Amino acid sequence: MLEGKTSDEQEVSEEDRFVTIDKKQVEDGYIFCPVCERDIYFYSDYLYGVFSDNLYAYLAAVLVTHYRHNHIRYYDRSWKYGSYAEKNKEYLYMTHEDYKTLVNNRAKRQIIRKIVESEQLDLQAKREMIRGFTHLENNDEKVKEVMNKKLISLEMSQKHCDYCDYPAKYQIILNAKKFLVCGIHKRKKEFKSAQITELKAIIEDKVNLFLGQKEKDI
Ligand SMILES: [Zn+2]
Ligand SMILES: [Zn+2]
Repeated sequence: MLEGKTSDEQEVSEEDRFVTIDKKQVEDGYIFCPVCERDIYFYSDYLYGVFSDNLYAYLAAVLVTHYRHNHIRYYDRSWKYGSYAEKNKEYLYMTHEDYKTLVNNRAKRQIIRKIVESEQLDLQAKREMIRGFTHLENNDEKVKEVMNKKLISLEMSQKHCDYCDYPAKYQIILNAKKFLVCGIHKRKKEFKSAQITELKAIIEDKVNLFLGQKEKDI
């Protein structure tokens, strides 16, 4: 069942795993917010307890909470002030919990987009941070779609042709060896009878398998 995930993990050797996100720093309350583009101070005993086994899930939960209270005003105003709530149609026609879920999902999408855009995070950190969101509750279809798209484009951006600097488009299996090639190098003579697969399809399957697996866990 976990085969896809395992082979995925194996592709990143231990040395390649950047330690961009420092566990100690997170535990001390210093967390990089991709929306602020700087470290914020935030520590939650409660969230740390819930996600004690997964630093990236904790980070995701913290960023969503921070976003809800610091990057938007309408959430806090809606539950604090009756006069404001009366003008907020979404809040009026939902339970407080449903509204919180709606706002959280909006926050998740925005944070994930900002993670991908950030110039201060390396690829591995981006990937792990986005994956952290899969552990959160109540991810709706839109959030899943953004996670899926962004994970696929991050993976694609890391794959280059074995023979040049162009992005890889195909995976070729020849004599039990795996090659990644661009459109030009796909036409090399030795690959004539080899098994050729579009890289995007392989990555899509991998990401979908990873996300599908997570969904079952929850
Ligand atoms: Zn922020
Ligand atoms: Zn090439």
